[in-house]
Amino acid sequence: MLKDEFAFSLVERSFNEVVYQLVASLCEDSGGRMFPVPRCGICNQAEPFPTRVTMRDETGQGIIEACYCARCAAEQADPSDKQFLVGLLSADRRDFREIRHADLVEGPGELEADMSLPTYRIAS
Ligand SMILES: [Zn+2]
Repeated sequence: MLKDEFAFSLVERSFNEVVYQLVASLCEDSGGRMFPVPRCGICNQAEPFPTRVTMRDETGQGIIEACYCARCAAEQADPSDKQFLVGLLSADRRDFREIRHADLVEGPGELEADMSLPTYRIAS
């Protein structure tokens, strides 16, 4: 694909600004979009397929999105979705430890890509 589009190509050993610009221009030409790879909220490792937690306000608006890499998610793994969630948020670098004291109650699951997502709200 690169060879068809460009008369010559440069091999760059590592990712740098030039490669970034090249990829960005390829995306633009092909009508594609680039998304930043999310970073793990615990160890800051880039993780293309993270475990994602979205916190919303009362209106359902997403306010904080937290992503966790497979390794950190595995460390917090718990048979209970609720304990898993509390473990992840407690370990988060942004310090959501208060979640431990919150009274979480299960809300109606949300459907995403035909999968029901476990959903919790803080009981008031
Ligand atoms: Zn991590």
